[in-house]
Amino acid sequence: MEINLKVAEAPTRENRLGSISGYSGTLRDAAQKAGCGGLGNRERCFNQASLCNAGCAQGMVCGILDAAVVNHAPVGCTVDAIGASVVRKYLGMMLGFEPRNAQFVGTNLNENDTVFGASAKLRGAIIETYRRYHPNAIFVSTSCVSGVIGEDIKSVIEDLKPDIPIPVIPLFCEGFKSKIWATGFDMAWHALLTGIVKPPQKKTNVINFINFFGSEKRQITELFAKFGVEPLFLPAGTTVDQLSRMSESIATVSICGTLGTYLGNGLEKQYGVPYVQTLRPHGITGFEEWLRGIGKVIGKEHEVENYIALERARVLPELEKMKQQLHGIKAVVGMGPGYTFNFIRVLQELGVETIWASAWHFDPKYDKGLVVEDLDYLVKNLQMDIPFSVSDQQNFELMNVLNTLKPDIYFSRHQGTTVWALKQGTASVCVMDEYTAFGYNGTLNFASMILDAVTNRSLANNIAKRTKLPYTEWWLNQPNSTFLKKVEV
Ligand code: SF4
Repeated sequence: MEINLKVAEAPTRENRLGSISGYSGTLRDAAQKAGCGGLGNRERCFNQASLCNAGCAQGMVCGILDAAVVNHAPVGCTVDAIGASVVRKYLGMMLGFEPRNAQFVGTNLNENDTVFGASAKLRGAIIETYRRYHPNAIFVSTSCVSGVIGEDIKSVIEDLKPDIPIPVIPLFCEGFKSKIWATGFDMAWHALLTGIVKPPQKKTNVINFINFFGSEKRQITELFAKFGVEPLFLPAGTTVDQLSRMSESIATVSICGTLGTYLGNGLEKQYGVPYVQTLRPHGITGFEEWLRGIGKVIGKEHEVENYIALERARVLPELEKMKQQLHGIKAVVGMGPGYTFNFIRVLQELGVETIWASAWHFDPKYDKGLVVEDLDYLVKNLQMDIPFSVSDQQNFELMNVLNTLKPDIYFSRHQGTTVWALKQGTASVCVMDEYTAFGYNGTLNFASMILDAVTNRSLANNIAKRTKLPYTEWWLNQPNSTFLKKVEV
């Protein structure tokens, strides 16, 4: 299903890309079935936890400095305002903008509202948000409740147009719509593409850089300056005006394929801004391919090759020494799919063997039918096939895997699973910074981080000694595949 910016809502990943949240097998098997359309989702007989796609959607737009969010939802669904405010303050301190709370309010839907509707409440909340915060855009996000009662949000917004002279944009992100919370990214990008981005007036030397937090902003700005281009890190820390001019940029890149596919391909389709679709810049191979992809789009291939040659001479001898120390370490990886595939590649480069990988969901392809390049690379270059599961942070499944395989180290990209691995006694690294293993220096740092984690295991050992896990031996000893029902294609 193609990206369609003429409709108000982004389709779910399940419908648009055929994405799944349940699988147990091997990486090559999953890739092969995905390639021929035979990858059916496998349901669980038990779900321990998951996330709501609304949180992902709201988290993206809350980072826009001069925008506000009105969540048309019961108060519990607006709990993400706390996390959004913490992140916003932290990013402000790190990236140099005012560290204050996110402008995020809720309409506090109650039982009466579910019977009689709450469009008046929503109207009042939008007007009050505009009066109080003077934002340059308001996103009106939806919830399961506003979706189930069929609240006519578009009409409320339409009626307010004469009174509110800024874009007020519906952000359709009802939690029940998708089991894959990354759908929330697409919902946020759809709102930006349909409500904020304007047709280009000119062309600039800016590269749209889709990312989460932007910890390497300074390094990347300096790197891009060598090639005469300038990054616009988004969405966190940008203004509505900057986002409205994304169509004028020379290219779009994304730190994560899962995160960026909708916005990158949407900008390319609508405004002809090329989306650089390569491996992601983690590890040496990924970084070089990514940089070459950018060089090609901006016409600086020669300059990029010179830069790569210089950096290789500086870094590779030291990296070779570290690889000898890392050789033979066995790892389990559990992350979102983009990062899972990237980090299997980085670990292979460093001589660390991945003995199980788990992805929080699985996209068989990206928008425009493009192959998932990080997965494609792995299938072609893996030294051996890897046991692989798709599990949306079901800790009981991961604990079973860690108990069975007893790896030297567990790499996760979610604190909620890292802490359980530690309690179970596995040395663990939470890869929360999206720029971990970014480029040459990042790869060196990542290698030494692994060495630190496996050399001194006292944290995991001490925590495990003092923790009684809730899992019985019977549970832990079951084969992982028994947690999933048969394939329903
Ligand atoms: S799943 Fe539905 S009810 Fe739960 S937080 Fe998300 S929108 Fe609210």
